[in-house]
Parts: sequence; C-alpha cells; structure tokens
Amino acid sequence: MSDVLVIPEQERQTIEAAYQDMLSTIKSMDDEDRQNIQAAYELAVGAHFHQRRKSGEPYVLHPIAVAKICSQEIGLGPTAVIAALLHDVVEDTNITLEDIKVKFGERIAEIVDGLTKLDSAYNNESPQAENFKKVLSTLVEDVRVVLIKMADRLHNMRTLGSMPRHKQLKIAAETNFIYAPLAHRLGLYAFRTEYLDLCMKITDPEHYKEVAQKLAETKRARESYIEEFIRPLKKRLDELQIRYRIMGRPKSIYSIWNKLKNKGVAFEEIYDLFAVRIILDVPRNQEKQSCWIVYSIVTDVHIPIPERLKDWVTTPKSNGYESLHTTVIGPSGRYVEVQIRTERMDEIAERGFAAHWKYKGINGQPDVYERWLDTVREILEDPNSDAVEFLGDFRTNNLFHEEVYVFTPKGDMKVLPLGASALDFAFSIHTDVGYHCTSIRVNNKLQPMGYKLKNGDQIQVLTSKNQRPSEDWLKMVFTGKAKAKIRSSLKEERRQKGEFARESIERKLKNLKVNEIDEAVERLVRYYEYTSHVDFFYALAVDELHIQDVFKPFKEEGGRLVEKPLVIEPKPVVEEGLPELKRRSEKKPLVKARLMINGEPGDAYDFTFANCCNPVQGDEVFAYLTSNAGLKIHRTNCPNAANLMSNYGYRVMKAEWASTTNITFVADLLITGVDAGRGVIESLSHEISSLLQLNIRSFNIHATEEGGFEARISLLVANTDQLYLAIKALKKLEHVSTVTRVE
Ligand code: MN
Repeated sequence: MSDVLVIPEQERQTIEAAYQDMLSTIKSMDDEDRQNIQAAYELAVGAHFHQRRKSGEPYVLHPIAVAKICSQEIGLGPTAVIAALLHDVVEDTNITLEDIKVKFGERIAEIVDGLTKLDSAYNNESPQAENFKKVLSTLVEDVRVVLIKMADRLHNMRTLGSMPRHKQLKIAAETNFIYAPLAHRLGLYAFRTEYLDLCMKITDPEHYKEVAQKLAETKRARESYIEEFIRPLKKRLDELQIRYRIMGRPKSIYSIWNKLKNKGVAFEEIYDLFAVRIILDVPRNQEKQSCWIVYSIVTDVHIPIPERLKDWVTTPKSNGYESLHTTVIGPSGRYVEVQIRTERMDEIAERGFAAHWKYKGINGQPDVYERWLDTVREILEDPNSDAVEFLGDFRTNNLFHEEVYVFTPKGDMKVLPLGASALDFAFSIHTDVGYHCTSIRVNNKLQPMGYKLKNGDQIQVLTSKNQRPSEDWLKMVFTGKAKAKIRSSLKEERRQKGEFARESIERKLKNLKVNEIDEAVERLVRYYEYTSHVDFFYALAVDELHIQDVFKPFKEEGGRLVEKPLVIEPKPVVEEGLPELKRRSEKKPLVKARLMINGEPGDAYDFTFANCCNPVQGDEVFAYLTSNAGLKIHRTNCPNAANLMSNYGYRVMKAEWASTTNITFVADLLITGVDAGRGVIESLSHEISSLLQLNIRSFNIHATEEGGFEARISLLVANTDQLYLAIKALKKLEHVSTVTRVE
C-alpha cells in the first residue's frame, strides 16, 4: 500500500510542479544524482503525507522549497539537495536514520542527523546561547549542515505569516540573535539582509510598512535617476571590450530604517537609498587590473570622494569579501556608492562560504574561513568556555565590518578586527604568547597592552613564564578569542581558589548526613543565585559568603538537603530558574491598563510597563517575567526584546491589549525646531492642552547651539492613534522641524 496514491490530484500537481521547478535550479548532476534526488523526493512526499504546514499547504512543499534555496541561492550541489529534501523526515515521521543510511549512504545520513539534532536543540527550552554553541559545533563538523539550516530558517521566516504571533516573535528574535550574525560571518550577505528585513517586518511592522511604502512611492524617480547616472558610464564602459553588467540596487528596508533612526533624518533626506554595482566578466588573472580600469572610468565621469575609497580587492575582508567601493558625486550633487567587482567576487559576496569553497585552492590565498573555523574549534574545545559569553563576543565582533592589517617582526601579515589591541595580537599569535605577555613594542616603541592597532603597525610581543592574565586584561582586548582565553584562565584560577571551600562544604554535608551531595550543592548554588559552582565556591573562599551561614535555611531530610519551611521574611524560592508569577493582591487597586496576559485578563497579575520602551495601548507588546520585579510589559521593537526573547524565551508570555478603554499611558516626544523665543513653549503647550486636550506630565526645553530648540515632552495618551494624531498636529506647527517618539 502506498500513501502517495491517495494524494488529491490537484495537490499532487502542485507538489510535482514545485519539485520540477527546484530541479531546474540544479546546475550540474549526473544520472546517479538524478536518481537519488528523485528517490529522496519520493521518500519525503510519502513520509510527510499526513502533515500540513500552519498555512494548510502540504508539508512536503517546505523541504522542496529548502532544497531550492540551497541550490539556487547558495549554489550547493546534489548532496545538499538530497539532505535538504530529507531534513525533516527523521524528526517528524517514522523514517529512521538507519533507513536513510541504507538508501542514501553514510554522508547524507550524517548531514540529516546534524540537522535533526539542531532542530531538537530548538524544540526544548534551552537558552539560545547553548543552542548557538550546538550550531557552531555542527558547523565545524560539516559546514553544509549549517548552510542547509540557514536555508531552512530562511524559508520558515518567509512563510511565518500563518504562525501565531508569539511564535513569530520568538523565531524572529532567534534569527536576529543567531542566524543573522552567523550569515554575516559566513559571508552570506544576501541571507543576512533578508533575515533582518523579515525580522523587522515582524517586530516592527509599522515602521517596516512605512519605509516599504516610501520606497515604492519613490521607485520611479529613483529609477530615472539611476538611469541618468549610468548612461554616461555605459558609453565609456562599452568601449572597453569587457563583458559587464551594471545595475542600481536598492538598499534593504532594515538598513534604511537604521539610518533614519540613528541619524534622525527624514526619508527624503537620505540619498544613498541604492548603490550602483558594476560586475565584470574577466579571466582570473585580469581581475584586479580590470577593476582599477573601471574605477578610473567611474571617477572620470563622476567626481569621487577620496576618503570613501575602499579597496577589498587588494586585501579581501577576513570573511572573504572582495570588492572595490567608491562614493562619487552624481547628478544634482547626490552622493552615490559604486561597487566594482568581478563575477567571481560577486558570487563570493552573495554566497560567501559556499562560493568560497568553489574557488578554494585556485588562488593560493590564505583560507580565511579555515582560519576562522580553527578559532571557533579552539573556543569550543575549551571546557571553561561559557556559551553566553561566547555568543556575546561573537555578536559584538560581528558588528564590525572593518579590519586592521598589522605585521609580525618577520613581516608576516595578520588581519584583526578593527578595534583590536596589541594584547589581541598576542593572543592571535598563540594562546601561550597571550597568557605570558608582559609588554609590547609597536614600531619599536614600548606601548601599553591595550594599545589599539593601526594599519601597518609592526608588533613585537615580549613574554615571561611567570606572567598570567588578570581581571583587567578583559578590558584591554576586543576579540572573542582573547576574551574567551582570558576568562578561561581566570576561571581556572577561581576554581583553584574555591577548591578548599568545596572540600569544607562537602565535609559539612556529610556531617549533616546528606547523601545526595551533588544535588545538595546544586541546591545551594541556586539558592544563593550564583551562576556556577565555581563562582559559589569562590565566593566562599573570598568571604563573600560565610560557610557557617550557608546552611542556616536548610535541614537534612531522608539523606537530602531541603529548605526549612520559612517563617519570617521568606526569600523568594527560585524553581527551575523561573520566578514565581504573582497574582494581584486583593487590596491593590485595579491596574491601569487592560491587557490580556496568556489569554487571561491582565488584572489578575501584578504587572508594570518597562521603562526602556514605555509601551502605550496599541503598541505590539509582550510580557516578560522578571526575577524580582514581577511581569514587565515591553514593546516588541524594544531594544532589549531580542535579547530577552531569545535568551529567556521561557519567561516570555503573550500579552495583547484588551478592547479600548480611556486609560492613559506615558509617551515621550522629542521635538526640535527653530527657536522662536518664549512663543515656542506657549504654542506647544497650547496645542497639546487646549486643542488636543492631552495632559502633559513633564516638559523640558532648551536652546541648541545652532540657535534652535530641543524639547522633551511626556504626554499622557490613551492609545497609539491619539499619540500619532498629536505627533501629526505638532509637526504642522510653525517653528517645529521634527517630532519623534523617544523609545
Ligand atoms: Mn524544516
């Protein structure tokens, strides 16, 4: 009996069409590949037969779409396509890994196994940092696992629409926290851009729509400008006898929004909404020369801004990116970024790691990815490395796209992230060199270890056997590797110091007749809220905690250490890391807002609005259970949201506004404008109080150096509609230039 036969004809056709479409994107395959892909497809169709996606479509369309992304957007071959088709069968159906091994061989089975393990890492509630560590461990084993996972994540993000809201937020947070930085590190720029756009669409739908709409409205004007900019260039490039493509590419919604937010300018004032890209089709040995010829043409036609020249053709970025960027002054004096690169460089820029492999070994360049993977491997193998810290380091280092190039005394070049210090350099040479570093000479001059490296510096590290890292070294380094190594060494020292305390605690427990020693220690660590055993014992060693007090709240019961029933001033008991959810006490007045928390009226709980984002009614929000301040309500686009949701997802609760009420909220506005003396205060307050009939909670105004004014007003409003009405009205006032809500 075959399940396939029972699939309705129309659905069967949809599935078959998706499959054929996917097949057409595979660049090269032989007969054997073709047969295996067909077999994987049939297996997936049969295995997922009973499943539907949240949208109602047959589930198997998902693995087919993931296989297509792997082939079309990452450029992976038949092996990855097969693994992608099978990526969910072991997890979701009764097909076993053994079945896959028998049918498709060891390698495919291993990749599918890796993907299944990653998935199960997500299904449980373990903190993101641990998940991230798992992703990286898989990465160092077989990169394809992570590349397929990236495709899987991309398809899930693209089709997130039919998921419940709180799941959307969780997936978006995780993507923002882990997958976007990882995509960047692996050079999958296109993926990173799309991830961030899709995240913004979920966490900040209002601004996303606003920017998208403005982009659409200005599309025609932009296209004709690009046309005007490109025309004279084309004329000159055509004379060159080189095959090339030229295009104007709009920047992503996410990056435009960031500019609007950070620079505080209006959409109309942003000029670089697009970049012009020229891609040359030339043989490998003419690449560099051709790029510079084109550069010279571009700067003949349009005037360049010399400081904006970036040459990643001569020295590629450490994630493999190669390109020549320049900014020129186009028609009507607008700045336009021009990117010049070859087809090969373009493929590396779009597909990063995957494309890099294809060209590996041809050019004899140091393999940037291998080097990076070595670092990752080293950090992972260190038993002292802490997942949370590691993720933090990884993310901060990722935000910096720039690099600094320095030299060893022998003249070997080293590439470090911009911001790296002389001490980072020491750790990049060898861990032991870092550990024992006593002083550093830069260009033959003694410099402090925290000295920030500059391009071209020549660096000599002096070491001594007796030297070892101290706490303040952490402030002098920038790279994740150095930080991890220093922390690990410090932890080892703390561990040694705490050893004596550990012995005393264990002896005490034995005297108390406790048999379950490990469990008892665990209980103590949690009770006193230390993050690790090492920290707990160290606290005892340095008298931060006193051994004679430690056992006071406890007693022995049946060979185990248990808490005494609390009589006075109970300390809140933390179970499984989840704080207690407090019901509202009867005496307190009803809380000021109508929120539904986890589907129940919010009146039932004690909750407050977070100060970091001051939500008002109508904002997209979620509830977060804090460890000591009850429930806090945050906006989903709060700067802290991604961190909270991805690291403490288990503390996040669904919150939504109940139907309208006339309850008020605080919203802060920043108003700037041209100073008109006393009249400004009057006209602002008149508008707000008399015309809009809103209450002002606080009002601060001061003159700026340029002769304008800046006012910060706290308003009491009922909902977002009212707030936007107010913003609109204030913007129209004479002398007012901008009105923004302060996050
Ligand atoms: Mn999947």
